[in-house]
Amino acid sequence: MGSNSSTGTSPGKQGRTQSFCAGVKAELAANLPQARHCQLAELAGLLHFAGVLGQDTAGLWTVGFQSENPAVYRKGFTLLQKTFNIVTVSELEPKDADLLFAGIGRPEEVVSSVLLKNACCQRSFLRGAFLGAGSVSDPRKGYHAEFVCATREKAEQVREILAGFEIEAKIILRKKNHVVYLKEGESIVSLLSVLGAPRSLMDLENLRIYKEVNNSVNRRVNCEMSNIRKIVEASAKQLSDIEFLRDHVGFDKLPEPLRAVAAARLENPEMPLKELGEILDPPVGKSGVYHRLQKLGEIADSYRCEAQ
Ligand SMILES: [Zn+2]
Repeated sequence: MGSNSSTGTSPGKQGRTQSFCAGVKAELAANLPQARHCQLAELAGLLHFAGVLGQDTAGLWTVGFQSENPAVYRKGFTLLQKTFNIVTVSELEPKDADLLFAGIGRPEEVVSSVLLKNACCQRSFLRGAFLGAGSVSDPRKGYHAEFVCATREKAEQVREILAGFEIEAKIILRKKNHVVYLKEGESIVSLLSVLGAPRSLMDLENLRIYKEVNNSVNRRVNCEMSNIRKIVEASAKQLSDIEFLRDHVGFDKLPEPLRAVAAARLENPEMPLKELGEILDPPVGKSGVYHRLQKLGEIADSYRCEAQ
């Protein structure tokens, strides 16, 4: 964590301050599928979720990608070149524009299921969509990942494909957008695995293990503290019972075995039961001492009730 300065796909300079999300996107941007079917699916994801199409006064198409992340639009250009040999994003040759639209559809539409038949292509599509419209929060602050979609249909498509990988996502309407989101650390781990970001996945897993260990240590400390509190409370109750009997009833009203334990306890308020039993004459075992103290408590309680 915090050592992402060598990713090479970020503009540099930001170095160590690069966010977790930027690290994920840099890793995804560097992950270029070899097969043409996967390249098409990823380009479709990118164009349908972050593509900007325009026509100039001469009627020629221009294409771009809406992203603040240079790694994202650089990947878009790389994919345009690999799949359709389009090297310029302004004034596309009409035949290139026709090929592009015939190949992956228009950005405002839902991506054709023909492009998403194979699992490899579904992963690539999700990668493109995430690069274009996705984000993931810093796992140190919480678990949240989302795809911001312009239409309900696009959001449903992303959710369905995620469900095919057993990743459960929900959709909410935020302003005009339909946002597909995940909240569980577990599903974000699966998402990073499906998208193909193994390094970020390791970072996230290490952090989750660290958090878990921390939590279990905290739970154990809390449990021990509450046991100590119970012991302290119990011994305070014992003492106040014995003092009550001494002051309001009188030790001479108690049977001899109880009187002996009561006196020993008053003289040794913090002595463990076992040692307390050893100083009695005759000595008594730990459980014997415990039962006598219980009995003293019951007698004190019964006198207290009578007094009310
Ligand atoms: Zn494929």
